[in-house]
Amino acid sequence: LIVFDDVVKRFGDLTVLDDLNFSVAPGERVTLIGPSGSGKTTILRLLMTLEKITEGVIWVGGEPFSHMRRGQGLVRASEGYMRERRKRIGMVFQQFNLFPNMSVRQNITEAPVHVLGTPKDEANARAKELLDLVGLGEKIDAHPTQLSGGQQQRVAIARALAMQPEILLLDEVTSALDPELVAGVLDVLREVAETTDITMLCVTHEMGFARDVSHRVLMFDQGQIAEEGPPEQIFGDPKEDRTKSFLRSVL
Ligand code: ATP
Repeated sequence: LIVFDDVVKRFGDLTVLDDLNFSVAPGERVTLIGPSGSGKTTILRLLMTLEKITEGVIWVGGEPFSHMRRGQGLVRASEGYMRERRKRIGMVFQQFNLFPNMSVRQNITEAPVHVLGTPKDEANARAKELLDLVGLGEKIDAHPTQLSGGQQQRVAIARALAMQPEILLLDEVTSALDPELVAGVLDVLREVAETTDITMLCVTHEMGFARDVSHRVLMFDQGQIAEEGPPEQIFGDPKEDRTKSFLRSVL
């Protein structure tokens, strides 16, 4: 579903992704781990088209997904294709980024109604279902400011799911939360992982969560994959010294 093909991303002189190659199959859940600054968030931002690639090609669903140079030429994705695919990629950020002036219901129904053209009644019914899923059914008319951080993050997850994403990108979704609120958010994501076939790419420092939900773990270091494998292997029997020392620092 997703292929990174010799992807390079530079910010000025700083090379953040260095000839990166990996792919993600439909329905696969992949966790990205590694030291701060190793380029994990940049990968998600490239998939959200929040950043432009420097070299290489990112493919989503078999078509190039960005405008990028390859060799001497330019690989240009079709705008229509990008727009349609982009609607089916959801992201949940570290800072919940809810619309502060809208109720919980409006936060969740805004994009389905205005981007997908879902009828309002249907979007409302779906919002209620999703809020029940994340344990906040009774907060549908609350405003984000009336919610705890953990509750806001669960609304952000419901909002992402309301777009029926084929790909869900999760960027350190619990790192801004008070410790006692982390488990509730991770439980919701475990439930999403167990009950849907959404392809998930997840940057996290929660190694227990990564072990439970991922099919595969990619360990990043300096813009490259230092090691990859199933979670049992990466956490139980890492091969690379860089992985071992990273895991020692977070566990
Ligand atoms: P963290 O775990 O701290 O979020 P990360 O592995 O996700 O780290 P990235 O956020 O992808 O790392 O950042 C990789 C590098 O790129 C960092 O050195 C960062 O400072 C730099 N960087 C990211 N965005 C920009 C930008 N817009 N302009 C310049 N440098 C940037």
